[in-house]
Amino acid sequence: DPLAVGTIRLKSLVIELVTKSYKEKIMTTSSRASARLEAVATASSRIIRNFKEENKSSKRVSEYFAENVFTFEEMRKTLVDEDIKVLQEYAVIGTSLTDEIANKVATAVKEWALAKGATHFTHWFQPQTGATAEKHDAFFDFDSDGLAIEKFTGKDLIQQEPDASSFPSGGRRETFEARGYTIWDASSPMFLIDTENGRTLTIPSLFVAYSGEALDKKTPLLRSIRAVNKAATESLSLLGYETNYVDVNCGPEQEFFVIDEAFAALRPDITLADRTVLGKGPQKGQQLDDHYFGAMKPRVQNMIMEAEAELIRLGIPIKTRHNEVAPAQFEMAPIYESANLAADHNQLVMDTLKKVAKKHKLKAIFHEKPFDELNGSGKHLNWSLATSEGVNLLNPGDKPDENIRFLYFLAATLKSLKDNGDLLRASVAVPPGNEFRMGANEAPPAIISAFLGDTLSEVVEKLASGSSGDLAERASTINLDIAKVPVIKKDNTDRNRTSPFAFTGNKFEFRALGSSQSISDPIVYLNAAVSKALTAMNAKLASISNGSPSNKAALAVISETLTEVREVEFNGDGYSSEWETEAAKRGLSNFKTTPEALDVLTKSDTAELFTSLGIMSHPEELTARYNVFMDRYVKLRLIELEVASELLKTHVIPAATNHQSQLAASLCGVKETLGSVPETQKAELESFVKLTTELFEKTKVLDATIVEAKELGEGK
Ligand code: ADP
Ligand code: MG
Repeated sequence: DPLAVGTIRLKSLVIELVTKSYKEKIMTTSSRASARLEAVATASSRIIRNFKEENKSSKRVSEYFAENVFTFEEMRKTLVDEDIKVLQEYAVIGTSLTDEIANKVATAVKEWALAKGATHFTHWFQPQTGATAEKHDAFFDFDSDGLAIEKFTGKDLIQQEPDASSFPSGGRRETFEARGYTIWDASSPMFLIDTENGRTLTIPSLFVAYSGEALDKKTPLLRSIRAVNKAATESLSLLGYETNYVDVNCGPEQEFFVIDEAFAALRPDITLADRTVLGKGPQKGQQLDDHYFGAMKPRVQNMIMEAEAELIRLGIPIKTRHNEVAPAQFEMAPIYESANLAADHNQLVMDTLKKVAKKHKLKAIFHEKPFDELNGSGKHLNWSLATSEGVNLLNPGDKPDENIRFLYFLAATLKSLKDNGDLLRASVAVPPGNEFRMGANEAPPAIISAFLGDTLSEVVEKLASGSSGDLAERASTINLDIAKVPVIKKDNTDRNRTSPFAFTGNKFEFRALGSSQSISDPIVYLNAAVSKALTAMNAKLASISNGSPSNKAALAVISETLTEVREVEFNGDGYSSEWETEAAKRGLSNFKTTPEALDVLTKSDTAELFTSLGIMSHPEELTARYNVFMDRYVKLRLIELEVASELLKTHVIPAATNHQSQLAASLCGVKETLGSVPETQKAELESFVKLTTELFEKTKVLDATIVEAKELGEGK
């Protein structure tokens, strides 16, 4: 009798299971269901946190913008103009700083911070983990007479010495080589971090090893900005323009999910890995397209408003907010800023959202793919170059085909994709979660290409083919011909959501970034590639123009460059399978996994690129980064696998065996009463037993895989 056999096997399985060491941890199906009901009850009875109550003043945003920042305006209250000028030059151009000025700035910032209630200061830096790090010291000290005082000197401002051995160094350092230094970055202003019980003066800093190697994200970023400045000012001078310096501007659009803490707490996977590793998607997900730009839920909107208020106080110019595609997914973006500042500020945006969400009993999730079957979260990095006089070098103006300066920088950017597309791909492979998102019909594919839109495509086509003539007429307005509805101006390009690198009017939008990542790596790699492209074009231009700027010579270099880079231009549907085939024909890479994508960092050409531009001091600085990225990738995957195994053993299998017992017991009862069992019900039990058995088997395979992976990691 298969049923009797089934029941016996079932009982033995249950006994085996219950006698296992995780006995106490088992959650039964019914306790699980009630836990969920409790979470629903908790979440639905939350009261919206009224943060306005706490700071009753109804000030305008412009009145409290940068209130917690030690700005140059703030310095003006205590420092003389001359000193400020020295500091400004030091911060912007990189002239030297005397101890005298450092001491004056230290005294000024100390007084400002103390007046605002700060007790401590910290250097604030960005190790390779992608997060931020800090080590607080009190202002409190003793003077030579043993009296308690508040002290902060130029030396405290300029450097701090945190133990560097516990930060990832990619095999460059042993635990006994612990010395590391943080060094003040004067180009990013100091600010106050508020906590309920006090304030801390926070000093943006670089982080380097005793040997001078960069251990952080900021050092290469600053050096890459310097490299772009050098190449771009040289280009401008060859083209006949004077400028003090060229800066990189970035505006990162940040996506994230927000869920109630009670629901997050139900899921060990969300708690530990920021994503679900097991489960079933909801019947109603995003298929109705009803979330994107929808009216925001008051609870979340209120949380975001509080985060915005805090960010505004930190001088972060938050501008937009809206619902994203998936349920409970949102986006926030600031007004663009100089790249170094934008990178610091984006870290603060993520930190602040997390912190403020907690106050609202919510959890903000930055993982690239927290929920299967729903869109993941990315970050769009808007990038452009501008002169110190404020001229955007990627602004095509009214006549793009005649704008030599614009075309020169456009050609260089496209060339950077053609020559170093793999590097851009690697830059977005740094966050391990992005692997689940890219190329999945919700995010750009893993193929790096550029979208230019109708007008620019035509310009590029004309220049590359050497044809002349006017550009096609395009309607520049939309006229609905309805009285009371104004005629509106049209942009010169449509948008293309599917392109990883889209020209959007006067900037490029690098759309493949993962939501959790520091924007530094993508900016550094892009800056490096563009610097290299500009330098190569400059050399050509210099050789044909013989030292005096000539439009004809510049056009020749532009046309030649554009002719060579045509294969990276793609204006069609990046999500389609036809594009994958077409891209393969064009010889474009399509690295789907993180390890494949990061491999370019192990190539000597890449090391040569970074060292020759002075972005890295030594090829091993790159190797170290590769090691850190791979190490994080493997460790995060292992955490996910171990969470999956734990969930299977403590949640899924118990639920399955429970259900089996119920089915079996019910069939026994039916048989006893009616003398026989309906076939369908019997078949149901049989198939369920089969599934459950598979579950046991596969869990074993999973565990064996984890053990094997760990042994491989230990070199066994
Ligand atoms: P979208 O419509 O693409 O979602 P958003 O307004 O959300 O646009 O974000 C666009 C981002 O691009 C903002 O951060 C904006 O400040 C930034 N941006 C605008 N112009 C430039 C520029 N010239 N260089 C860099 N970033 C820019
Ligand atoms: Mg946006």
